[in-house]
Amino acid sequence: MPDRIYNFSPGPATLPYEVLVQAAKDIVNFNDRGIGLIEMSHRSKEFIGVVDQCEALLRQLLSIPQNYKVLFLQGGASTQFAMVPMNLLGPGKTASYLNTGTWAKKAIKEAKYFGTVDVAYSSEDTNFDRVPSGADYTIPPGAEYLYFVSNNTIFGTQFQSMPETDKVLVCDMSSDILSRPIDVSRFGLIFAGAQKNMGPAGCTVVIIREDLLDRTLENIPTMFRYKTHADKGSMFNTPPCFAIYAMGLVLKWLHAMGGLPVIEKMNQDKGALLYQAIDGSSFYRGHARKDSRSLMNITFNLPTPELEAKFVKEATAQSLDGLKGHRSVGGCRASIYNAFPRAGVEKLVRFMEEFAKNNG
Ligand SMILES: *Cc1c(COP(=O)(O)O)cnc(C)c1O
Repeated sequence: MPDRIYNFSPGPATLPYEVLVQAAKDIVNFNDRGIGLIEMSHRSKEFIGVVDQCEALLRQLLSIPQNYKVLFLQGGASTQFAMVPMNLLGPGKTASYLNTGTWAKKAIKEAKYFGTVDVAYSSEDTNFDRVPSGADYTIPPGAEYLYFVSNNTIFGTQFQSMPETDKVLVCDMSSDILSRPIDVSRFGLIFAGAQKNMGPAGCTVVIIREDLLDRTLENIPTMFRYKTHADKGSMFNTPPCFAIYAMGLVLKWLHAMGGLPVIEKMNQDKGALLYQAIDGSSFYRGHARKDSRSLMNITFNLPTPELEAKFVKEATAQSLDGLKGHRSVGGCRASIYNAFPRAGVEKLVRFMEEFAKNNG
């Protein structure tokens, strides 16, 4: 393995090294067939095999029930902010949203183009340092669905358990899908951009319960209807071939690691290590409230913005890359998705102790 830096980027994010090596080989010569992966027809037998295997692995890892479709779409998770209400909402209809950060807020804005939005909960007044428990909000009886973001990438908060509701539950799971086991049957629709925890950028996975495919109004354009893609196995048009292929490699890697129960334990262990370093020092201050802390994106501040800038600069010089926080929180953010190695967290913790000693 060449010298690799520790990449704390929130996304696109670090990938397993063996996935990169395999992808580099297959781009040039896929399965030794004398043709590169990214020049093959998406309708070739080989590529159909790639898509089928990717879907099968995802179904296995998440135990996706038979009455759910898996779609591989483009346009990023951001397109889903509009596509969800385009397909599930309409004039005179209401949907409930939990406003727990930037990505939820953007989704709320899009939904307003297609129907009435009820913001049942917001933590904006405390700069999104928390997510709600069920007691913190009520959903209007007529709501078509309840929309939430399971992990708030920018603010470093995460739902510790999924909302309980009799409504159709819709979740933006972009930054924590596959980080822990979930019960898919409790959701109507899950979507996730691949570039946080599943692979490279370019593909958005949608997992949708089949009965929801028929709710779409007549005037919604073809490419924006979930049913179009469900009916054609995500091959209505050219799919994001490379991103699907690379996601398949990541899913295979996850499988070999032991699946979601094992990766969940590893994530808990890595997160605990870093949160201990924050809690054990008066120099560092976590942004998220303790009961809402994310195991994927860990946000913290130092005593002053000047020290934060110095921290990021010195960390970068020691191959701890991408720690600068999002401008809306400031401070630092360590994104430690599934593929982020424990050794990198250990190195960061050592660096944090050293830095606090020298600057505290
Ligand atoms: C990154 C992110 C998005 C936006 O993803 P794009 O693919 O860039 O559109 C949406 N939601 C969450 C939770 C994210 O982390």
